[in-house]
Amino acid sequence: MFTPLVENSRFHSSVGKIVCVGRNYAAHAAELNNPVPDQPVLFIKPADAACDLTQGVQIPDGLGAVHHELEIAVLIGTRLSHADEQEVSVALAGVGLGLDLTLRDVQSQLKEKGLPWERAKAFDGACPLTSFVAVDRVSDWTSLSFQLTRNGSIQQQGNSKDMLTPVLALIAHISEVFTLNPGDVVMTGTPAGVGPLECGDRLELSLEDWLATTTEVRQA
Ligand code: ZN
Repeated sequence: MFTPLVENSRFHSSVGKIVCVGRNYAAHAAELNNPVPDQPVLFIKPADAACDLTQGVQIPDGLGAVHHELEIAVLIGTRLSHADEQEVSVALAGVGLGLDLTLRDVQSQLKEKGLPWERAKAFDGACPLTSFVAVDRVSDWTSLSFQLTRNGSIQQQGNSKDMLTPVLALIAHISEVFTLNPGDVVMTGTPAGVGPLECGDRLELSLEDWLATTTEVRQA
């Protein structure tokens, strides 16, 4: 069980499920030769995927390439079901960053066979999360910039303005399919620049000038 920090305080719930969206940035869909979807591609990571990014990013051994996907993570504060964007906007508890760790070789094999992706994306520790900042810092959900550097070089640079489905509309859409409860996290998709992690890599993640976190990649 992982209980996130919001502005240095423990949140009142531990992380429940993590709802993720695939292909929410056109440039990332293109880099993996995927078509741009006509509705959000949703999948879920279970609670045990959540872990504290500051404690190190643990990658599985012997399962091929483990890719980083840097994403804006949104922490749900109050229950949402069939919500509109206005209801979503007042139900959010925090915004931070997460890595949607992906066993890319395993995922490619699963995709080829038309099988679900859980083995590639939902394993224990597959969603390291930073701490969250309070959402009252956010004046515009469609202009949040964020970045990942790996061993000092910029790997991913994103801005929420490039999302195919913007944050509030995305969470409203998700709430039509899954009830979101306090402690659930929504991962809003990765921009281009995904790539493999190696043990010993030093990662720096930043969101606006609100959040800057350093961590290291280790063997699980
Ligand atoms: Zn992702």
